[in-house]
Amino acid sequence: MASPVLGIDLGTTNCVVAIIKDDKPVLLQDDQGQHLFPSVVTLGEGDNIWMGREAVALGAAVPGRTVYASKRLIGRWYSDNVVQKARNMYPYHIMENPAGGGVLVQLGDNRYTPEEISGMILKAMKDLAAKRFDITPEEAVITVPAYFNHAQREATQRAAGKANLRVLRLLNEPTAAALSLQSEGQSDRVVAVYDFGGGTFDISLIRIQEAVYEVLATDGDTFLGGDDFDGMICDELSNQFEQSTGIKLRNFPLSWHRLRDSAEKTKKELTHSERCALYLPRLVGEDSLATELTRLKLEEMAKPLIERSLKICARTLEAAKMNPSELSDVILVGGQTRMPLLRQMVEEFFGRPASPGIDPDTAVAEGAAREGSMLREGKGALLLDITPITLGINIVGNRLYPLIHRNTKIPVRKDHMFTTHRDAQTTARMVILQGDNPVASENVRLGEIVLSNLQESERFSSKIEVAFEIDANGILHVKGIDQDTGNEKEITIRGSFDEEGKEKAGDLPESETVAPSEPSAPTISGPFRETELIDVLCFLHANQKSGRIEISTKEKEQTGSMIMAAGEITHASLGDHKGKDAFFYVLGMREGYYAFHEGESIAEPREIEEPFDSLIKR
Ligand code: AMP
Repeated sequence: MASPVLGIDLGTTNCVVAIIKDDKPVLLQDDQGQHLFPSVVTLGEGDNIWMGREAVALGAAVPGRTVYASKRLIGRWYSDNVVQKARNMYPYHIMENPAGGGVLVQLGDNRYTPEEISGMILKAMKDLAAKRFDITPEEAVITVPAYFNHAQREATQRAAGKANLRVLRLLNEPTAAALSLQSEGQSDRVVAVYDFGGGTFDISLIRIQEAVYEVLATDGDTFLGGDDFDGMICDELSNQFEQSTGIKLRNFPLSWHRLRDSAEKTKKELTHSERCALYLPRLVGEDSLATELTRLKLEEMAKPLIERSLKICARTLEAAKMNPSELSDVILVGGQTRMPLLRQMVEEFFGRPASPGIDPDTAVAEGAAREGSMLREGKGALLLDITPITLGINIVGNRLYPLIHRNTKIPVRKDHMFTTHRDAQTTARMVILQGDNPVASENVRLGEIVLSNLQESERFSSKIEVAFEIDANGILHVKGIDQDTGNEKEITIRGSFDEEGKEKAGDLPESETVAPSEPSAPTISGPFRETELIDVLCFLHANQKSGRIEISTKEKEQTGSMIMAAGEITHASLGDHKGKDAFFYVLGMREGYYAFHEGESIAEPREIEEPFDSLIKR
C-alpha cells in the first residue's frame, strides 16, 4: 500500500507534520515527544548541518551560522522591503544572489537560496517521518500563507522538489485550519480563520457547505508575526541595557541571539504569569542584564501590533460584504494566538468567543493531512479558493490592465483582446504584473511574454489575445496569442529569479506595449473605480477618440435617474489640465460639487496627482 501523504505546515518558526491513520490525524513527534520542529538550520563543526531543536541549541553558540525564518525570504527579490528589514533583524548574513536578483543566505563558507534552506527542512521532516511512522513518504500536501504570491508558491514547490517530495497540493493555511474542523458541528457555516504565527499573519473567511470550502475573502501581512513581538521586547531590553552600560547590544551578535531567545521565552511565560524575571549573566563582557517584564508592559507594547491585524480583519469583512454577526465560528491558529490579550481583542472584535478544541499549533498540519488523504482517495474536499493579489499586464501609457482582480475565485481563466498602438508595430511585449497600482511600473514584475513577427499593419488593427490562468495551487500560467498568425507563447511564472523576471517593473518599453482593443467600460457607473476610468482615458488617448464618462451613485442602479456627473472627453480637451484639476475637468464637475456628494455611496475623492500627470503630459 502507498505510504500516507504527509500534511506539512511549513511555518516560519516551526514545522508540524501529520498523517492520517485509521481516519484520525497523527502528529509526527521527535524523541522528546515534541511535535513542533523549529524551522532552523545551523552549520556546525566540520560543515555538519543541524536542523530543528539541535540547530536552535547550537545556534546560540554560532549565531552567524544559523538560519531561521527563511520562509520570510523565500520567493523574494533582494531589493524587497521585507528582505531589507530581515537583514537588520537577523544575525545571519543575507546577500543578493548575483544570478538574478534573489536572495542568498550565508552558512559558513557556503551560500544557499531560501528555498534550499526550506528544502533541507522538508528533507529532515521527511526522513524523520519515514523513521517514526515506518513509511516511505513520497507525497505531501504543504501549506502556505494565503497571502503568498506566485513566486513564493513556486519557490515552496521547488523546495519540496529538493527534498524529493511530490506536492499533491499547496494548500492555503487558513483553508487547512478550516479542514481540521471537518467532522464537527453543522455543515453550512462561515468561519473566520485568524492565523497569527511566528512570521506572518493572515485572515480568511471561509464558507463550508458539505465538502465544499469556499474562501470568500482573504488578506494578510507577510511581515507581521510573533517575531515582531520578540523584536519589540529585545528593543525595550537593549535600551535598558544601553542606558545602564552604554553598550549597544545590536553590535554583539552572540549577545543579541541570547537576548532574542530570552525575549521569546519571556513572552511565552507571560501568557501564564503576570510578571517574569530575566537574568542574562555576562551578556557583554562582565556586564549582565537583570530586569523583569510584566504582562501589563508587554500588553502595552503589543497592542499596536494586534490592532494592525484587526484592521486587516475589518478590511476582509468589508471585502466579503459581511459583518461579524454572520460568522458561525472564529478559529484561532498560530502560536501567538495563545497570548491572552490577543485572544481577548480578537474575541471582542468578532463579538464571539473563539471556537474551542482547536490546537493553534497543529490544526493546519492536521487539515493538510486530511486533504492529502482525501486527495489520495480521489475525493478531496472541493476547495474554492481565491487569489489574494491582482494580476495583469502593462498597457500603453504605463498603465496596469488587470486581468484577474484580487479576491477572484480560483482556479480561474481570464482573457482579453489587445492590439498594437503604433503603425507597423511588429512586436508586442506584455509584462506580467502583480499589484493594484494603476501605474504599471509601480507593480511587481513577474515575467513577460513577447510576440514578435506580428504582421505589419495599421495601429489598432492587430488582434493579440492574452489569457491568464491560475491553477488550483494558485500558480499562474500566461498565454499570448497573435490571432493573425496563430503564433503563441506561454509561460508559467517560475519564481521571481528567472532571467526574465529579475527586477521590479521599473521602466517599461513603451514602443512595444499593447493597448486594450476595446475599453473595458466606455460608460462608467458607480461606485466609482479609478482603474476603470483610467482604462477609458488610456483607450481614448491611444485612439485619439472622444468618449463619454458618467459617474452615478449606486441609487442610479435602482432608480435609473441620479447621474452625478457626466462629461465628454477627448485627448485634446484635456489641454493643459493636469493632475487633480484634470480629473475634475474630465468628469465635468467642480471640486465642491464632488465634495457635496462625498457622503453618498460613490467612493471618496482620492489623490491621484501622479498617475494622471504621467498620462496627460503625453
Ligand atoms: P507558529 O508560526 O504558528 O509556530 O507560531 C510561533 C509563534 O508563536 C512564535 O512567535 C512564538 O513565540 C509564539 N508563541 C508560541 N507559544 C506562545 C505562547 N504560549 N504565548 C505567546 N506566544 C507564543
